[in-house]
Amino acid sequence: MMPYVIDAEDLTIPSHLLPKDGRFGSGPSKVRAEQVASLAADAPTYLGTSHRQAPVRDIVSEIKAAMASLFSLPDGYEVLLGNGGTTTFWDAATFGLIDTRSEHLCFGEFSSKFAAATRAAPHLADPVIIESEPGSHPDVVVDDSVDTYALTHNETSTGVMAPIARPANGEGIVLVDATSGAGGLPVDASQFDCYYFAPQKSFASDAGLWLALCSPAALERVERIPASRWVPPSLDLKIALDNSRLNQTYNTPALATLHLLRSQVRWMLSNGGLEFTTGRCDRSADVLYGWAEASEFAQPFVEKRSMRSHVVGTIDFDQSIDALKVAGILRANGVVDTDPYRKLGRNQLRIALFPAIDAEDVAALCGCIDWIVEALGPSSHGGRTGARPQS
Ligand SMILES: *Cc1c(COP(=O)(O)O)cnc(C)c1O
Repeated sequence: MMPYVIDAEDLTIPSHLLPKDGRFGSGPSKVRAEQVASLAADAPTYLGTSHRQAPVRDIVSEIKAAMASLFSLPDGYEVLLGNGGTTTFWDAATFGLIDTRSEHLCFGEFSSKFAAATRAAPHLADPVIIESEPGSHPDVVVDDSVDTYALTHNETSTGVMAPIARPANGEGIVLVDATSGAGGLPVDASQFDCYYFAPQKSFASDAGLWLALCSPAALERVERIPASRWVPPSLDLKIALDNSRLNQTYNTPALATLHLLRSQVRWMLSNGGLEFTTGRCDRSADVLYGWAEASEFAQPFVEKRSMRSHVVGTIDFDQSIDALKVAGILRANGVVDTDPYRKLGRNQLRIALFPAIDAEDVAALCGCIDWIVEALGPSSHGGRTGARPQS
């Protein structure tokens, strides 16, 4: 007789358990229906029109002002934007923000990529790299040989958040990759010189754009460096600054991306700003980590509570449960992009907790995971093995 095998893809999660919105990806991430409706309503006079004319430039202007307000930027700070997303901004920073040598806190895929970009640059000295194990973050080590400290607010590949603070007694500017942290985690603008991000994460828009909140010290470099070093125009932050001041970008931007982004910052500000958005992320994180801590088969990957990200949660599963199989069943039921960051190589799920995502939906997702594990049968898990001490 054939053994009875459940075809996992055929498991149908009862509809009353499903989240209202099934998007839990860490980028691109959930875009709220109201943003899409607003874009559709404006489309006839907006999409397909010149980015050098008022309808688009007014949106760029509003986005700049909204960012200054959302992050309570001190006097003298300016908002720059350009095309290409964060990965392109790393190259622009490699050309136009680092004088000779940078220090990088590397604790995952994204923070390591920027370090690799500066290491490869022939015009810069080899960077100082401070590393820590995946699932934790290192701390700044003050180094007199560097002129730039490169921090990451949230390491999206591992689900670790890090505090943003200037190194004590350290000279040099502080650059922060805030691609997944910006808008979902608290930050004090006096602690950074350049806080940069792309809008497909907490800002619930589409990708391909970068934004950079720059202090006077960062702007001084933006103005000075291109005079002394060859910089490709599309990566020249001085050109980006000049265009941003005119509410434009150097080359043509994606208009839908700008519109969706504008809707999201309006929503954030009209509900109370960063206090509102970080509150939503805190609630979702409480739900997710609380569920995992109480679970017999799952646990938070990041041991230290203070390092557990409130915008991207990573949950380890006991070896008796195949997390990828769980993600596959979720996907077949319309709950998508919970797959782990592949290069991390762990038996885990990664779940976005960005401001657009409702805590109730995170709770429903946890319920769906419990249902799947139950449906796969008791042989699929033998209770918690390898539980680790919490700190
Ligand atoms: C997503 C992400 C990036 C890459 O952003 P792109 O816009 O795809 O270049 C970089 N850093 C962090 C922390 C991210 O989360």
